[in-house]
Amino acid sequence: MTRWQHRAACKDEDQALFYGPGEGEPRETPQEKERRVNKAKAICRGCPVQTECLEFHLRISAPQHGVAGGLDEDERTTYRRRQQRKAARERHPRSLNVKP
Ligand code: SF4
Repeated sequence: MTRWQHRAACKDEDQALFYGPGEGEPRETPQEKERRVNKAKAICRGCPVQTECLEFHLRISAPQHGVAGGLDEDERTTYRRRQQRKAARERHPRSLNVKP
């Protein structure tokens, strides 16, 4: 566990709130998932290490599910793609098309 993880608001929470039912457990309905995810995000909003958590989960390349850093898996994927596009634009800026 890294230092920031010791300060995590979720450290004493049931991890099923962030990751959903485990293998062999009944699946949740879309409505149940939405309620669970919203509860987890509410905890993240009050977390003192949300930035560190999000950066950590954006860096790791393994497939991820669940809420982390205040975002669900789809939101993290979208966020990561935006960051990659932004970085690519900064590496290869388009010419300004300025006439001499
Ligand atoms: S941001 Fe959310 S998932 Fe990350 S450490 Fe804080 S409470 Fe846990």
